[in-house]
Amino acid sequence: MARAGGLVDTLQAGAYRVPTDAPEADGTTSWDATTVVLVQVRGAGATGTGWTYAPAAAAGLVREVLRPVVLGTDLLDVPGTSQAMVRAVRNAGRPGLASYAISAVDVALWDLKARVLDLPLHRLLGVVHPHVPVYGSGGFTSYDQGQLDHQLDGWLEQGIPRVKMKIGESWGSRVTRDLERIRHVRNVIGDDVELFVDANGGYSAKQAVRVARAAQACDVRWFEEPVSSDDHEGLRAVRAAVDADVAAGEYGTDLYYFRRLCEAGAVDCLQVDASRCGGVTEWLRAVAVAASFGLEVSGHCAPHLHAAVAAATPNLRHLEWFHDHVRIESMFFDGTLDPAGGCLVPRDDAPGHGLTLREPDVAPYRVA
Ligand SMILES: [Mg+2]
Repeated sequence: MARAGGLVDTLQAGAYRVPTDAPEADGTTSWDATTVVLVQVRGAGATGTGWTYAPAAAAGLVREVLRPVVLGTDLLDVPGTSQAMVRAVRNAGRPGLASYAISAVDVALWDLKARVLDLPLHRLLGVVHPHVPVYGSGGFTSYDQGQLDHQLDGWLEQGIPRVKMKIGESWGSRVTRDLERIRHVRNVIGDDVELFVDANGGYSAKQAVRVARAAQACDVRWFEEPVSSDDHEGLRAVRAAVDADVAAGEYGTDLYYFRRLCEAGAVDCLQVDASRCGGVTEWLRAVAVAASFGLEVSGHCAPHLHAAVAAATPNLRHLEWFHDHVRIESMFFDGTLDPAGGCLVPRDDAPGHGLTLREPDVAPYRVA
């Protein structure tokens, strides 16, 4: 029997800086451009593409530290190559950039493997959820009311039944405006759409509880990072005092990080980001950690990077349909998905993650 497969024979990495369509800010930072680090791997005549949202230095790390251990590996043995990459960054430090770089390569390797086997990635991984729920995410503190309403109207027209807005403006120093904006969004979306808020660690624990109580009538269902995600005691205290589910985990880059959050009783739903934690390989392990604590997971940002592996995740709650990344992914790729009705349905008619890089369109954004 002929065996599909081959060796990884090429790896390329580049960084692309894309201006936002308007200034964007949350409770604790602001930005006017987003950098994407793209990785392409080739083998057996096919190309796999992965990416992460990280400073351009991550592309240098891919070329300098990861490429030597990835080239020449068997393209079917992605978990083995993942382990080799994790070992290779020991002295560089696994958390942060190194893990983001590993994620982009890992996603490219899974895409390559699925393409060589001529399977959609979600079919290779095995589907649990054919429909992947999403929530609309944006609602930046930098938006004026017109921009906010326009964004909310877009999600409502698409039939997305959950939306998330940013609060905790200026490190929790503008609570009156936070509350006015929460009430405004509840008015715009009506009673039937779930309202989520994300403070990006901008409040203290008691302050977060007071905000939640003041917004009681608005029926907030999800309170993300009410305090810093490193403050497990604070998260647990807020969790005990508010009705909304408390969520955190977007900065996690290894299994011990996710276990500590779960073990501390800090979250009602664990957030995991495959573009940061180590790609598809580490996502599959992180979600198992959450499951062992009886928790569901929610995918953080980069919705098209998550769609296939989310479909393969038993304890999935939803993915974040993040305005900034949705816009970039539609600029960069053909084959992007439609969130109509509030779900993504990974494509059965294309191999890999189903996305094709629009190389001429992205070239002008290249910075490294
Ligand atoms: Mg967040």
